[in-house]
Amino acid sequence: MVVERHQRAGMEVSSRNSEVIHAGLYYPAGSLRARLCVEGRRQLLAYCEDARVRVRKTGKLIVATADEERAALDAIEAGSQRNGAEPLRRLSREDARLLEPDVACVAALLSPGTAVIDTHALLMALEADVSNAGGIIAFNTDVTAISRDANGGFVVEAKSADGSVAAITSRAVVIAAGLGATQIGGLLTYSDGYRVPRMYPAKGHYFSLTGKAPFSHLIYPVPHGAWLGVHLTLDVAGRARLGPDIEWRDDITYGFDDADGARRARFEREVRRYWPGLPDGALQPGSTGVRPKIYAQGEPAADFAIHGAREHGVEGLVALYGIESPGLTSCLAIGDYVAALLRGSDAGGQ
Ligand SMILES: Cc1cc2nc3c(=O)[nH]c(=O)nc-3n(C[C@H](O)[C@H](O)[C@H](O)COP(=O)(O)OP(=O)(O)OC[C@H]3O[C@@H](n4cnc5c(N)ncnc54)[C@H](O)[C@@H]3O)c2cc1C
Repeated sequence: MVVERHQRAGMEVSSRNSEVIHAGLYYPAGSLRARLCVEGRRQLLAYCEDARVRVRKTGKLIVATADEERAALDAIEAGSQRNGAEPLRRLSREDARLLEPDVACVAALLSPGTAVIDTHALLMALEADVSNAGGIIAFNTDVTAISRDANGGFVVEAKSADGSVAAITSRAVVIAAGLGATQIGGLLTYSDGYRVPRMYPAKGHYFSLTGKAPFSHLIYPVPHGAWLGVHLTLDVAGRARLGPDIEWRDDITYGFDDADGARRARFEREVRRYWPGLPDGALQPGSTGVRPKIYAQGEPAADFAIHGAREHGVEGLVALYGIESPGLTSCLAIGDYVAALLRGSDAGGQ
């Protein structure tokens, strides 16, 4: 049984992202983010073909816009090799402009393995899989409490929109609740020394582009620390969006905030480094999304935290924290990893 507080699946983090199937270039070698991204991408592409979920194999250019950024391209290339990602191609300025005449750069990397996906179609296909496998999704139902029962299982208290409360008993529980995970995880008692990670919501704003984008590839600047920079992505229909930026917050809100126009000005400045031809007034406020980060601003980026009994000492429980990007790309591989933990096999050593 899947318990979901909204009326549809994926209304929180999963419907507010860039829809990019990442190749696995940036993450530290051996991290879960690297492993599950590379493996998840392969699985997701095969799944989408079978389930007829639309994918567009756009490829992506990572562009150095100044000589000082060339070293960052070297580092990304080396990192992607260590991660076993699809090989990248190094491009000179001229090569890059043959592919994308409107791009400004001194050098670039081409990631042919990066693609975009119709996320809503994916969510619908996954929902159908749950039903076809005999599962139930209880929509409009909020998990309000969770505890152990006398037999070593769990009792999950769930409140429906009409106010009725049900107690669901289960031998195993997976907390895959995105922005709600730390709150639910915090309701259980653990072995000494284990602490549920703290969540630091990090909001991102997207601008959409009026008119047609002059690019057929996704365009990314070189990353700044743990943030990928204001990039240009396309959806499966070819519409362009710019972003997301990053705003560390104490709360979870989705409003698009740019009353004084400062955000638009910042985006225009960032984007014009690699697309000087961005027309004035072409950016329109778009969507926002919130990343469930488990590290604070300025700290090194944390790996996905997928905790089983080995971490917290509770048999039958797997809890997922900090499932930010590349969580969409990795989703099927994350599912396998969780299943292996529940079966008691050593997923971490696979
Ligand atoms: C701005 C942004 C851009 C991103 N871009 C990309 C990208 O391009 N590529 C990529 O691979 N990844 C990307 N990601 C990451 C990706 O979107 C996430 O990793 C993934 O969608 C997380 O899925 P999830 O199932 O963990 O969370 P969610 O989709 O949020 O699902 C968790 C569900 O749990 C439910 N829930 C929470 N609490 C409760 C409760 N108490 N009771 C009942 N239900 C509850 C929520 O309603 C929600 O539907 C991006 C994320 C963001 C925020």
